[in-house]
Amino acid sequence: MVFLGELLINLPLPVDIPIQEGCNTCVACITSCPTGAIVAPYVVDGRRCISYLTIELQGAIPEEFRPLMGNRIYGCDDCQLVCPINRQAPLTVETDFHIRPKLKQPDLLNLFAWSEAEFLKQTEGSAIRRIGHKRWLRNIAVALGNAPASETIIAALHARQDNGEVDEIVREHIDWALNAQQVRLADNELIVQQKARRKTERMVRIIEKGLPRDA
Ligand code: SF4
Ligand code: SF4
Repeated sequence: MVFLGELLINLPLPVDIPIQEGCNTCVACITSCPTGAIVAPYVVDGRRCISYLTIELQGAIPEEFRPLMGNRIYGCDDCQLVCPINRQAPLTVETDFHIRPKLKQPDLLNLFAWSEAEFLKQTEGSAIRRIGHKRWLRNIAVALGNAPASETIIAALHARQDNGEVDEIVREHIDWALNAQQVRLADNELIVQQKARRKTERMVRIIEKGLPRDA
């Protein structure tokens, strides 16, 4: 795991040397990145990175990245997970970095229903807390927009839209998610209709074929 940080001190520390590049022919992180943020070996375009988009970015998430974010609502470690070098790294014993049971594979609709007070309570002591409730809702709205079509999700998005806790930016992401859900719902309906039509046509063909014998 890469953990970036910065300390401002006045100690005359020795200058370290660059680490050796050890990727050889591997390009796993480049090809696995959902948004194409690793634009060349060792070069990340931070503006495309889901960790930036869901955590650091304060305004609207650019629309081109929303469908690519899938259900990632806080950061993304795909490039870390696929890296063969990371497989050799031992798991940390620091319990603060371990998955919290409450946040293990949570239901998105439950998370989306959290009030601001609930969000602050549930994320006490977690870095998630620093994005605040509005960015939390913004990110989950995108994930719900990317979820399979569901009337339950559409109802939850409408309920949030009418809720006083959302601002203009969250509302715009909810609108986007509603549109994505409705398009998918209509596509599903079309597929169901096409399947039903093909079934009917097949039945008609079978009956027509059988008519001379059975009529
Ligand atoms: S964290 Fe995710 S989005 Fe960002 S560079 Fe890595 S794989 Fe790409
Ligand atoms: S996945 Fe790891 S080893 Fe492979 S290119 Fe990326 S950083 Fe290098």
